[in-house]
Amino acid sequence: QGAIVVGLRVAPLDDEYILILADDRTEITRTEAMRHDFVVNVSHELKTPVGAISLLSETIDDAAEDEDAVRRFAGRLKVESVRLSALVQDIIELSRLQSKDVVHEGAPVDMNRVAAEAVDRVRLTAEARGITVKLGGHVDRPVHGDADQLMTAVRNLVDNAVRYSPDKTTVGVGVSSVDGLAQVTVTDQGIGIGADEQDRVFERFYRVDSARSRQTGGTGLGLSIVKHVVANHGGEVTVWSQPGRGSTFTIRLPLWEDETDH
Ligand code: ADP
Repeated sequence: QGAIVVGLRVAPLDDEYILILADDRTEITRTEAMRHDFVVNVSHELKTPVGAISLLSETIDDAAEDEDAVRRFAGRLKVESVRLSALVQDIIELSRLQSKDVVHEGAPVDMNRVAAEAVDRVRLTAEARGITVKLGGHVDRPVHGDADQLMTAVRNLVDNAVRYSPDKTTVGVGVSSVDGLAQVTVTDQGIGIGADEQDRVFERFYRVDSARSRQTGGTGLGLSIVKHVVANHGGEVTVWSQPGRGSTFTIRLPLWEDETDH
């Protein structure tokens, strides 16, 4: 860390001089290392559901006579396929985000609608567990960006708030404008995140509790996707949290600049 990687090329120029070319390869080396880590992680993450699916299919074959067993294995097969499909979707989404520059092709996006849709989509799952999802606030101006990406980001935060909360609690989603930025906050009364892990949760595949993440259908990529979407929009995402009390995730995004304003 902090080291600089330099590529050196030496060539004789004439009888008296040699030419030394030095180029800074720090960024290239770092990017290559990150890409390599990602490929290793993806392979590891894919192995679990793929392994389970192949094992379950074999077992179903062997247990063909036992109807009950077949039904149980088929149920497990479905769970593992859903998990695999979610993982593949998130991996594709993340790669797409990393290679896209939305700011140039952005359009005005109404964050009030984005938040309302995100809340609507999670409402049934939340209600089934007695979790109340409250939506409040308003932002007068749109933000500059890509509606689908912003929807994905807010939905990931709201999904997480529900998934990491006990039954019969409340999740709050607030929209406002603060310091000339659009702000969306998602607050839960859930398990919270320790201070030393609050930065790490935005890393790809980082989970505080892997078992809980998997049980609730997590891919470990949700917050990493949020971070990329927000960065692509020139904004920031922050977290405040206390273990055992809950968390608040905040997204701040630049507002749409109407050309007719100038
Ligand atoms: P996952 O699919 O595992 O939920 P994320 O990238 O969305 O992946 O989140 C990374 C980790 O951050 C989660 O595994 C969980 O440990 C933690 N986390 C995310 N959101 C919350 C939350 N609202 N409350 C508590 N922990 C959270």
